[in-house]
Amino acid sequence: MLQLKNIFKKYTTGEFTQIALDGVSLNFRKNEFAAILGPSGSGKTTLLNIIGGLDQYDEGDLLINGQSTKKYKDGDWDAYRNNSVGFIFQSYNLIGHLTVLDNVKMGMTLSGVPKAEQNQRALDVLERVGLKEHTHKKPNQLSGGQMQRVAIARSLVNDPDIILADEPTGALDTQTSQQIMDLIAEIAKDKLVIMVTHNPDLAEEFADRIIEFRDGEVMSDSNPMTASEPSKNYQLKKTSMSFWNALTLSGKNIWTKKWRTALIAFASSIGIIGIALVLSLSNGFSKQIDSIENDTLSGFPITITETANDMTFGPSNRLATEEDDKANEKQRKTEAVFPEQPAEEETVHENSLSEEYIAYLTDMDSSLISGMSFTRNVNMNLIHQNDGEVAAVQTDSLNLTSYPTNGEAKGSSFLEQNYDLLAGSYPTGKNDLILVVGENNQLASGMVDALGLDSSQKEINFDQFIGKEMTSIFNDDFYTETNGFFKINPDLTSLYEGESGTDLKIVGVIRGKEDLSIAGLSEGIKYSDTLAQEFIGNAQKSAIVLAQEAADFNVMTGEVFST
Ligand code: ADP
Ligand code: MG
Repeated sequence: MLQLKNIFKKYTTGEFTQIALDGVSLNFRKNEFAAILGPSGSGKTTLLNIIGGLDQYDEGDLLINGQSTKKYKDGDWDAYRNNSVGFIFQSYNLIGHLTVLDNVKMGMTLSGVPKAEQNQRALDVLERVGLKEHTHKKPNQLSGGQMQRVAIARSLVNDPDIILADEPTGALDTQTSQQIMDLIAEIAKDKLVIMVTHNPDLAEEFADRIIEFRDGEVMSDSNPMTASEPSKNYQLKKTSMSFWNALTLSGKNIWTKKWRTALIAFASSIGIIGIALVLSLSNGFSKQIDSIENDTLSGFPITITETANDMTFGPSNRLATEEDDKANEKQRKTEAVFPEQPAEEETVHENSLSEEYIAYLTDMDSSLISGMSFTRNVNMNLIHQNDGEVAAVQTDSLNLTSYPTNGEAKGSSFLEQNYDLLAGSYPTGKNDLILVVGENNQLASGMVDALGLDSSQKEINFDQFIGKEMTSIFNDDFYTETNGFFKINPDLTSLYEGESGTDLKIVGVIRGKEDLSIAGLSEGIKYSDTLAQEFIGNAQKSAIVLAQEAADFNVMTGEVFST
């Protein structure tokens, strides 16, 4: 039995406080189909989120099997959400590149169902929702009604006692809605189903009980549970949350900056947003993920790097099936060696950043994009004057890359938006270099030494870096040929004093802003993209060695994620 006792919930945004639930008391039977009706904004979703443990009540109590949840710890909520509650939403939240079967299996990721059993369970629920013939299709090959059936199968696969459905037919036509309602009513025969709907006809036709909401209060209840009714208990099951626990993803920990940044970097690199979303919806992280989406992803750039980790469910890292387990066992028992590509290698994906691809990106619908920038890595031969002598700079310890710009017109505004200026100025000219230091102003000793400063000092004033000059020398001048061998020109001094090089200067020291949510620049020396392009342009003429061209590519998307 589930009991809400005088539940209050308010949301405060800025100066404004919205009371979403204003003293709600309701008892639900172990087994019934309750429909919640009410105008938009009346608190229906808030109620479901609180019942599902996705959101916390401010006052009152939620009792599960007669026990208060006031003292529930994160782990207790996790167990409850994972195993006792299934969620169905208006938007189906399926992962596009996974098959129907794998989408349903995702629902078991955190529930500790043995692998060997997962396949069969997923197939069973898919048969139950009438999708037996479609298990190997991808979501985009299904109709809306079929997609909602997949989502229902996913919510059922852990055999939860409670199903919470938020406008499950909101996006479906009348006939399909009827079919989905038939299915949900069927499910409600041995579960508690609480369904929010804006359609009174559907509620009337299918539900056992109609609860009407207005302004966060229960206005009417067609079949309230009386105190004298016998109450039956749910079977609360233990959970296996190790993966998420390890990531300390649950609850508020997700908000610590370190984790948020790591999560986002991780998520964007492997396209896990969809996966996390599904996990969250079927397992109760929805609130957090929603907020991440809203707060962070809207301003978060998509970075397309030369190499990326592809963690989508390829042959080696998809969910193992029973057949896989059998095949592995057979292999173990065979007296032979089996060549295979290691899984780690298989997940590394090389992006081909061709001219054509870059043209495609720059031609994209500009209304979807708030900025775009390229990072080009150029191998530079830098020389500087150090203790009165001209010497080559150990460039490989400087993390030399270009800094992103938001389009040509805005110059260095990317840096101004994301980095605090600690000394000097932001770069303005193409030959201006900028030094990026770590979050506590640290800089690797190797970099300090490479810049000709003494890393054995405890601290080094910013002034020592500002104004530091270096000259970039093209390969043709930097290397001289003797008997078919190339070696570094012994006369660096005349190169330094001559006109052939490009003079560069560190103009400022910057540090990532505290709330920096984008994948930040590494510590070290950064140069302008204009310079990089000039050098790449020169490459054809004068044999500059290009490590990578357009190694990283940032698309700063405002809208893409939120649509
Ligand atoms: P319903 O599902 O009935 O449309 P909700 O439960 O979503 O209503 O919302 C009830 C009220 O609480 C609304 O006024 C809504 O704007 C407000 N509300 C809901 N969630 C939040 C939130 N996370 N932050 C601020 N206000 C919220
Ligand atoms: Mg709602």
